Amino acid sequence: MKNTEIQTLMTDFPLVKKLIDLEEVTWFNPKATTLKEGLPYVGLNHDNVKDAEQRLERFAPYLCQAFPETQATNGIIESDVVAIPAMQTTLEQRYGVDIAGKILLKKDSHLPISGSIKARGGIYEVLTHAEKLALEAGLLQESDDYGKLFSDEFRQFFSQYSIAVGSTGNLGMSIGIMSAKLGFSVSVHMSADAREWKKQKLRSHGVNVVEYEQDYGVAVAQGRKEAESDPNCFFIDDENSQTLFLGYSVAGSRLKKQFEQMNIVVDEQHPLFVYLPCGVGGGPGGVAFGLKLAFGDHVHCLFAEPTHSPCMLLGVHTGLHDNIAVQDLGIDNVTAADGLAVGRASGFVGRAMERLLDGYYTISDQEMYDLLGLLNRDEAIQLEPSALAGMAGPSRVEQDAEYLADKQLTAEKMKNATHLVWATGGGMVPAEEMAKYLATAKI
Ligand SMILES: *Cc1c(COP(=O)(O)O)cnc(C)c1O
Repeated sequence: MKNTEIQTLMTDFPLVKKLIDLEEVTWFNPKATTLKEGLPYVGLNHDNVKDAEQRLERFAPYLCQAFPETQATNGIIESDVVAIPAMQTTLEQRYGVDIAGKILLKKDSHLPISGSIKARGGIYEVLTHAEKLALEAGLLQESDDYGKLFSDEFRQFFSQYSIAVGSTGNLGMSIGIMSAKLGFSVSVHMSADAREWKKQKLRSHGVNVVEYEQDYGVAVAQGRKEAESDPNCFFIDDENSQTLFLGYSVAGSRLKKQFEQMNIVVDEQHPLFVYLPCGVGGGPGGVAFGLKLAFGDHVHCLFAEPTHSPCMLLGVHTGLHDNIAVQDLGIDNVTAADGLAVGRASGFVGRAMERLLDGYYTISDQEMYDLLGLLNRDEAIQLEPSALAGMAGPSRVEQDAEYLADKQLTAEKMKNATHLVWATGGGMVPAEEMAKYLATAKI
């Protein structure tokens, strides 16, 4: 981008200057609207989500056998919701604000198979592809017990096909482990910031790990290029995949059931706020879509990004979406938050979801580390840095009187609010890595 273009952008959007200065910012989108008005722009609907739910149910008997850790939930990959009362008090003190209502933590960090939110979208896309191949070959019918896929016959069949993906780490883990288990030959193209232990874990599952010295965008482009030269290779496109998005969206109706079991009410008088760490946008976008379908206008979704990688905020705020990257503004896209080091947001997710997301904010790496240490101290829960991005959300909401007034979120309603912090990863971080994270927290 030319200097003059950047100057114009800063004049038109004063917030851009703050992003360039790496300040922590919060932006509530005045164009956020109702589900009714926003839904047509998504291009997907209830039936698509239902279809994804049913596909995952068909695969449950397979997952039970292939990953015995999913037996406890009958082959359904789902995470717990827990209260974090001590952390709530800590957050009030830290940010000097009363947080009315109750903060809960959604522990996607501890999802089986890959220990991150990617166990939703990534695994779903691999299963969708496997099902399609097996159906087309006449080896499978939708009415079958999919447990039969856990066999040498099917592993042999899938070994004729390959799968490729570009990843900063966690998506590669989900897709790599799932694909290898089914029998696919799988390559994960990993960016420079990917952790060594993730590469090792993948290799131990028989995954071909290709390393790059550049960032995520380059790893994706190279992965795509390699896949194009092989007709039997399926490239999983994290930036634009509707299938991934739908895999994530199933979280909405699942959460609704969990809340019912926990007697947590969500309605006009009991608003729900959900804080979602955002990288390229598919994960938080898909989850937010599912939440909107499940809870309608009573759920308010916010995306959280590192100050060094505010791609979705930048894209939506300027309306440029994937036509701008943070690097265009000289922002380096270097962050300790795995999965969030993305310079250019998904154009599909931004355009599909911008009307249904209340707001966006940025958070510094050190703040994520500090929150990581505080959550460990107060609740004995260990997450990876990116998973803490949502933890600053409740205070950002409480501090913005204009937003609350605009949405008619009165003090009365806020007393009944549920704040759900989506913890997106960390369950599989090795102990010595976690010790390093904890040592970086200044608490
Ligand atoms: C991938 C990831 C996210 C964000 O998902 P996107 O689809 O990239 O927006 C958040 N947290 C963690 C830990 C992740 O791995």
